[in-house]
Amino acid sequence: MRIVLVGPPGAGKGTQAAFLAQNLSIPHISTGDLFRANISQQTELGKLAKSYMDAGNLVPDEVTIAMAKDRMEQPDAENGFLLDGFPRNVSQAEALDELLETESMQLDAVLDLEVPEDEVVKRIAGRRVCRNESAHVFHVTYKPPAKEGVCDVCGGELYQRDDDSEETVRKRLEVYHTQTEPIIDYYKAQGLVVTISALGKVEDVTTRAMEALK
Ligand code: ADP
Ligand code: ADP
Ligand code: ADP
Repeated sequence: MRIVLVGPPGAGKGTQAAFLAQNLSIPHISTGDLFRANISQQTELGKLAKSYMDAGNLVPDEVTIAMAKDRMEQPDAENGFLLDGFPRNVSQAEALDELLETESMQLDAVLDLEVPEDEVVKRIAGRRVCRNESAHVFHVTYKPPAKEGVCDVCGGELYQRDDDSEETVRKRLEVYHTQTEPIIDYYKAQGLVVTISALGKVEDVTTRAMEALK
């Protein structure tokens, strides 16, 4: 299956993607995680991306599309993938369509996670991420680690993302509304969108998502 996950920052895309990718046996491709890996490895791409990310803006399309394309062309993505955080504007969606078309492939669904803004703000404010592996995500109240500041999965240090500050979150939400939400209409025109509520327990949202993708 080829699936795109959309939803505001903090909706739970990364959290759900981990479970869905496992259930569906497809790789979870997160452009945010790819950028953060580049930042921690201090690559040129990481240096470029960091300034945009810290300001809550989108990284320019050219480098983002090249990075996403490169990842989608890895052997493990041949039979499907779950895209998390890409595409994030209409030009990226068009670039993805072109890429799929040249490979004679199609998307199966665009899963839209709906969450009220006040909940998103709470989720982001309490988010803590592992330094070793950004897929290891915790929350100070909703999913506290057994030991404060330490990742339950690998023992790595938990930290608050630089862009999870209140000011940057406001900017990211604005960017979501103006630039990312239009891709929902773009995909509605292709009949691909399924919308679910991302409220409630993590496992209940996963069940809802699996039902919606049937
Ligand atoms: P969240 O899951 O909270 O929405 P992400 O990890 O997806 O955050 O993204 C963090 C930041 O990385 C974004 O604010 C943006 O700067 C950058 N980014 C991630 N994906 C893209 C993309 N497809 N296009 C441009 N920038 C991106
Ligand atoms: P996104 O990738 O959309 O930015 P994350 O998956 O990183 O979102 O989730 C944001 C924060 O909310 C994390 O701290 C995560 O543990 C928490 N979270 C995710 N899903 C839920 C849920 N269903 N209920 C409560 N908190 C959640
Ligand atoms: P209970 O112990 O009452 O059965 P849980 O421990 O499953 O409930 O969840 C308590 C709260 O933490 C819920 O509101 C849920 O949204 C949140 N939660 C549960 N699992 C996660 C997770 N993996 N990530 C983020 N939040 C979670």
